[in-house]
Amino acid sequence: MSDCIFCRIAAGEIPAEVVYQDDDVIAFRDLNPQAPTHVLVIPRKHIETLHHAEQDDATLMGKLFLGAQQVAEVDGIAESGYRTVMNCGAGAGQSVFHVHLHVLGGRSLGWPPG
Ligand code: AMP
Repeated sequence: MSDCIFCRIAAGEIPAEVVYQDDDVIAFRDLNPQAPTHVLVIPRKHIETLHHAEQDDATLMGKLFLGAQQVAEVDGIAESGYRTVMNCGAGAGQSVFHVHLHVLGGRSLGWPPG
């Protein structure tokens, strides 16, 4: 989708600090980080929200979590721990409507989240 900012990042049309990428997913640092590591893992395919994912997207959705593993390895937070978050819908805080998995770490993270 040409008007989707994350599609444009995936296409290399908008700069981003890429941490990991493969044929299916790309991970880049969040512009407004909430922790020392705050990376977004997105599918290259445009899927609006988690709720728009279909059965055929099952493997791709799983690859977002494998991308999070790669991010944790790159940033050296696999041992200390990290959190993955996916907001679904505006009411849950989603502001960019291209599925993305937040990967947060590098500091202690409280639970439940605020
Ligand atoms: P959400 O609120 O769950 O939809 O998360 C969207 C995230 O995208 C926010 O944390 C923003 O800071 C981040 N963001 C928006 N535009 C960009 C961008 N161009 N590059 C990196 N992160 C971005």
